[in-house]
Amino acid sequence: MTQTEIEKIKKLLASPKNIVIVPHKNPDGDAMGSTVGLYHYLKQHNHDATVISPNDYPSFLKWIPGNNQVLIHDYQTETSNDLIEKADLIFTLDFNALHRTGNMEAVLEKSKAIKILIDHHQAPDNYAQYIYSDVGMSSTCQMVYQFIHMLGDTHLIDSNIATCLYLGIMTDTGSFRFPCTTSNTHIIVADLIEKGANSAYIHNQVYDTNSYERLQLLGCALNNLKVIYELRTAYITLSQDELNKYNFKKGDTEGVVNYGLSLENIVFAAIFIEDKQEGIIKISLRSKGNFSVNDFSRLHFNGGGHINAAGGRSDLSLNDTVNKFITILPDYSNALNDE
Ligand code: 5GP
Ligand code: MN
Repeated sequence: MTQTEIEKIKKLLASPKNIVIVPHKNPDGDAMGSTVGLYHYLKQHNHDATVISPNDYPSFLKWIPGNNQVLIHDYQTETSNDLIEKADLIFTLDFNALHRTGNMEAVLEKSKAIKILIDHHQAPDNYAQYIYSDVGMSSTCQMVYQFIHMLGDTHLIDSNIATCLYLGIMTDTGSFRFPCTTSNTHIIVADLIEKGANSAYIHNQVYDTNSYERLQLLGCALNNLKVIYELRTAYITLSQDELNKYNFKKGDTEGVVNYGLSLENIVFAAIFIEDKQEGIIKISLRSKGNFSVNDFSRLHFNGGGHINAAGGRSDLSLNDTVNKFITILPDYSNALNDE
């Protein structure tokens, strides 16, 4: 983002505006943290701001300050669409293409509001007037911190904003351990703690609020784990029946894919989750080193993301999806064994 663009945005934000802030569908910690963090910031400038999430999000995110002010487009469709229609400005956070908002895509596309994109995914689409895209950033929350800093308002970051931004940096860096974690990430996190983010509390809310059934589902997933040692790959499947057996709730499978990657010598991990309601297999891919799961997912599974973390989907059955995966994999033998 250039200095000229920053100055233009400063001017836009100099008087109260109607603003809508949108995360991607199935929002994670970074999507909710960045949108609600930005919401608190805009409120300080007396804007009429609303976060509208395309659909519901997991209970381990429902404690964030401002949670009760978030609208869910799936449930409050009319109110949400009215707000989008009368918005002067729309911020889209933590995603790179409007279709990632699911049912909100059409109404967002139609809107005449000035759009500002803030995101760290690869290859952002060109739908926004202002694009702040940086794939080198750990998280969109880190970018919102930088954005507030560029606007000269770091002093306005209070404990609510700090808590939201800490949340997303923590979840997108796997608690500060993935390679996207830089010294600058730590400097920002230190400042957020100074400004009131309670690190132990936030970790507890996200990671230590499991239900018994969620742990049983994890046990089932680990039981289903398969390893292809010669291709340094591990994958997990979860069928709809298995999800039902353990009373699956949104968010219950978050992070499960990482267990595959925790195996010694494994550099590529996948999880295939059957969703009978949507009629798809939801896929999460993770890697270590230079093997790009973003490229892999774009090419074979209709998705994308980052080099080491991407998502995708398949319209085949669970079995056929896994077979497709296993069949493609040997083409990547060199890349996987080069790591
Ligand atoms: P997850 O596997 O946790 O759903 O997603 C991993 C990363 O890839 C996240 O940063 C997520 O936003 C991104 N991602 C997931 N699904 C898609 C997709 O279909 N397209 C793109 N471009 N990114 C995705
Ligand atoms: Mn993110």
